[in-house]
Amino acid sequence: MHIEESIKLDFKDVLIRPKRSTLPSRSNVDIRREFIFHHSGKKYFGIPIMAANMDSTGTFEMATALGTQGLSAALHKHYAENELVGFFQSLPQKNLPRSSAFYSMGVGQADYDKFTAVMHRAGDAVEYVCIDVANGYTERFIQFVKKVRNEHPHLIIMAGNVVTGDITEELILAGADIVKVGIGPGSVCTTRKMTGVGYPQLSAIIECADAAHGLGGLICADGGCVVPGDLAKAFGGGADFIMVGGMLAGHDECAGDTVERDGKKYKRFYGMSSRTAMEKYAGGVAQYRASEGKEVLVEYRGPVINTLQDILGGVRSACTYVGARKLKELTKRTTFIRVTQQLNEVFGKS
Ligand code: 5GP
Repeated sequence: MHIEESIKLDFKDVLIRPKRSTLPSRSNVDIRREFIFHHSGKKYFGIPIMAANMDSTGTFEMATALGTQGLSAALHKHYAENELVGFFQSLPQKNLPRSSAFYSMGVGQADYDKFTAVMHRAGDAVEYVCIDVANGYTERFIQFVKKVRNEHPHLIIMAGNVVTGDITEELILAGADIVKVGIGPGSVCTTRKMTGVGYPQLSAIIECADAAHGLGGLICADGGCVVPGDLAKAFGGGADFIMVGGMLAGHDECAGDTVERDGKKYKRFYGMSSRTAMEKYAGGVAQYRASEGKEVLVEYRGPVINTLQDILGGVRSACTYVGARKLKELTKRTTFIRVTQQLNEVFGKS
């Protein structure tokens, strides 16, 4: 047994210190980024925020809505082969950048077979792939990333999830362009409760970004953003991309029925390892495992574009507070201060 004594931080533990700035207004801030991916050599240009590959938020509708605004969505894993081929082939007709949608898969044989079939039929239409497992620390996962990289040198591969620098480096050496970071911070995740495993998300971002950038790789901070300021902190900590689930749930573009309770409209939102998801896709929770996600009702919020304005406005404003003309400069201009209180909630929590 070993105890790590250094302090590890979450979004709630810090604020960003303001700095002198010559920026006249937040409208002068450019929150798009340009990257050249380490392995694929391809170029990215856009707003590096994406919807999570969950049933609710990882939909074709979300990818289309976010794509028109320069953002992305990682599609959930449960679309059928034909649907995926049709969607990816339709991106140029819809005038959407290919970065608007990531194909997602796990590491099982069925995942691999479907992926191979889609790649065979859709060819170059699929450019971005997310290889996604709850625990990115297994040898099987690393080998799978290597195999996909060897077979598809031009694909942009995002792989995760992990929370430490050592494995981030290993994944980049194995062929990942982007390493997805986060174990346990998600809004409908119960991994920390069920297993006791996890890592405070801001420190995970800082440490993994440092490891990835040293090798020319990138990271995507996945989970735990609750308010727009958390995205600013994630970018400030070194995240290149951010994935969000709960903040994008409850919108028209999300899958699932709208339900009414006491005259109010809600949409269902559940973790991909929750009992609900396992009952839907795996015929129930297998005897050897426990559910590591939960289901909640999220207030219905109309079209996602309304929420986007809040999120992007918050990130732009953070940049003006520290004098970052471009999102790229935000991390260089970020000094975190540790705090014991974030908000004044005398008039409630909103
Ligand atoms: P959020 O933005 O809602 O805080 O976090 C979204 C992330 O939570 C997802 O991208 C995914 O990494 C994670 N997640 C989604 N469903 C589950 C689940 O059932 N269990 C766990 N442990 N994590 C989940």
